[in-house]
Amino acid sequence: MNIHEYQAKALLKSFGAPVAEGVAIFSADEAEAAAKSLPGPLYVVKSQIHAGGRGKGKFKELGPDAKGGVRLAFSIEEAKAHAKEMLGHTLVTAQTGPAGKQVNRLYIEDGADIDRELYLSLLVDRSVGQVAFVVSTEGGMDIEAVAHDTPEKIVNVAINPEAGVTADDLAKLTAALKLDGEAKADAEKLFPILYKAFVEKDMSLLEINPLIVMKNGRMRVLDAKVSFDGNALFRHDDIKALRDETEEDAKEIEASKWDLAYVALDGNIGCMVNGAGLAMATMDIIKLYGKEPANFCDVGGGAGKEKVAAAFKIITADPKVEGILVNIFGGIMKCDVIAEGVVAAVQEVGLKVPLVVRLEGTNVELGKKILNESGLAITAADDLDDAAKKIVAAING
Ligand code: ADP
Ligand code: MG
Repeated sequence: MNIHEYQAKALLKSFGAPVAEGVAIFSADEAEAAAKSLPGPLYVVKSQIHAGGRGKGKFKELGPDAKGGVRLAFSIEEAKAHAKEMLGHTLVTAQTGPAGKQVNRLYIEDGADIDRELYLSLLVDRSVGQVAFVVSTEGGMDIEAVAHDTPEKIVNVAINPEAGVTADDLAKLTAALKLDGEAKADAEKLFPILYKAFVEKDMSLLEINPLIVMKNGRMRVLDAKVSFDGNALFRHDDIKALRDETEEDAKEIEASKWDLAYVALDGNIGCMVNGAGLAMATMDIIKLYGKEPANFCDVGGGAGKEKVAAAFKIITADPKVEGILVNIFGGIMKCDVIAEGVVAAVQEVGLKVPLVVRLEGTNVELGKKILNESGLAITAADDLDDAAKKIVAAING
């Protein structure tokens, strides 16, 4: 689960991290009061969407010369004008995809006098099985280019979970970021705070780009992107309350209610599969035959008929879906349960696109019988390869 920058900053502030004063607003009318409550004279008006690259982003409706999704304002009047222009419009950034995201919230923040922009993130480094800091002196808006062109400028420091952030770790991090004086002292306080927040709140990513050194020599968290481990949300009601469903795919929200592993994708073959590995293989083989999957969907092992029907309904409700491939290897999941779920869903919502079903494993004969006797126009497939060929052929007409 992702949250907005302003929410991430409030959370980090509660752990003691230095962040600027700021106010989140939902309508342009609130801009004036928000700006007035800040020290000034520099204000920054920041689009709140669940995607980065806002500074360099472009508003779809505003033409090529309009400013981006993060704007400096040198007066309260200017902050108001930016807020009015930005709210309700669609921001396209390198991370939103061409469709962009509508800006429904803004964060008006105290402007900082920036000396240096650094990069810092915390993530779970699977290769060492530890939480790791990733830092670079080359922070700001182009970290992807730095990673690509000059990877030696990115330094990785993994943290031993028993020891926490040690003096040795801090020495490595502050040296990598070329910090000294007050900035170094600030960093030595900040880094353990960030690590603590990451671990306590079960984050999967905490990215601060940029982390800045100000002209007065002090550090500040200037941008913050946080993702949480969805499997740990049950123990963080405070984090769950920060969820902004308008930022999420409606199909994914419905799927999460049913505890389905579902990810919306851009193609047009809807997939219903059991097991993540089989789901990945199914997507691969669809691509091999020249088409793209419309989704990843793992109904899991112990699903009942209702959950299977819910999954099928989510897939058919996607207007991009031109054909559906059900690929089930019944182990714990029984083929007859899948068949009953599919039949129940189709009886409720109908079937307007070709459906190819490949069933194998536990209760396969019973499953096939249920599908055959349902009277539905289903194409049966013998194996994964056959199934992928058949659904691609059906779509190509
Ligand atoms: P994004 O990464 O989505 O483009 P950022 O929050 O990193 O958004 O903002 C982009 C740039 O805008 C930053 O790299 C920084 O130069 C500038 N900026 C952002 N917030 C402030 C602020 N409070 N004061 C001064 N400059 C800012
Ligand atoms: Mg940024």
